[in-house]
Amino acid sequence: MDRRHFLKWISKGILSASGFWLCTSRDAWGKSAFDFALEGQNLIAAERFAEARDALKEAVRLDPESDWAHGLLGRAYYGLGQKTEAVAAFREAARINPADTYSRMMIEIITQKPIPRPKKSESPLTPLEKKARAEEESMFNRLTPEGGLAYRVKRVVIDPGHGGFDSGAVGPTGLKEKDVTLDLAQRLKRRISEKGKIKCFLTRTGDYYIPLSDRTVIANQYQADLFVSIHINANENRKAHGCEIYYCSETASSKEAARVAAFENAVLKYDEPFKKRPGYIDIEEILFNFERRLYWEESGKFAGVFQNRFQQALPFKSRGVHSANFFVLRSAKMPSILLETGFISNYDEEAELKKASIRDEIAVAVARGLLYGSG
Ligand SMILES: [Zn+2]
Repeated sequence: MDRRHFLKWISKGILSASGFWLCTSRDAWGKSAFDFALEGQNLIAAERFAEARDALKEAVRLDPESDWAHGLLGRAYYGLGQKTEAVAAFREAARINPADTYSRMMIEIITQKPIPRPKKSESPLTPLEKKARAEEESMFNRLTPEGGLAYRVKRVVIDPGHGGFDSGAVGPTGLKEKDVTLDLAQRLKRRISEKGKIKCFLTRTGDYYIPLSDRTVIANQYQADLFVSIHINANENRKAHGCEIYYCSETASSKEAARVAAFENAVLKYDEPFKKRPGYIDIEEILFNFERRLYWEESGKFAGVFQNRFQQALPFKSRGVHSANFFVLRSAKMPSILLETGFISNYDEEAELKKASIRDEIAVAVARGLLYGSG
């Protein structure tokens, strides 16, 4: 930057010296703007900012259209701590030469308000902050240190996907996702309750519609350690088959994961939009934004642990662990996973999913995955 300007000025100086550059003013002793600017530059390098400023003021007086001299003057002012004058000089330089990124950068640096340091919690916590902290603490208490991944599940909320007018995916012979998920959830609840280690709750127990946001509210109210939403996958490619485990993330782990999430989120359009008053700030939402990363991280770890046991007992192929932005998982104040237990769009798997024995096998596989994490 400076080198470029210097060379430009050198050429001007040469022209000036050889008499071609007639418009250059000189002071009483014959010093040109170039001479003053060069002197100013040397003084800045020597950190003699006051002298540099005086020389550079002379340079810009003699040549008001020199971006180089204005930029140097800005640096001299900046060195003196005169920020207002520095910004004015850098602005002048940037006006004359819009490509002068150095001056632009300096304006930005100087005019930027210092980022306020986060206040330490000297002030007493608000009830909401207390609640958020207590939730975070209780979540960490529920994590077991062994293996670093195991998660002790004591209370689980099972969410049978879809319901009511929302049938979810429909198979080639008319089997509806909402019916299979409800039956699977009920079988799973029975299976888990038998063992007596985990308390199990369902978000719905019949064929009715619950908005996606209400499903996590239910899980939060039950203060569950884990939220499991059960779905059946579907794909235009009727050959696609197998089970997938998902956890929530801001960006999808693959195009396919994004597609699955988009399909499962599609029912959102029927939900009542939450009306915000002008100026309304959802503090709880802001606080929760920090928490949810932790839950998602734990969900990912849990999904890995879960899948090891789950796939051993599964009657279908395991298609692994993936992540995407599932609305139904977003607001869960606990680790949460979403299972796609087979493809209803696949002829063979649709036929299998109709069988009580296969549904039992799936329920057993899910229960094994959950109980593994129950310590
Ligand atoms: Zn679904």
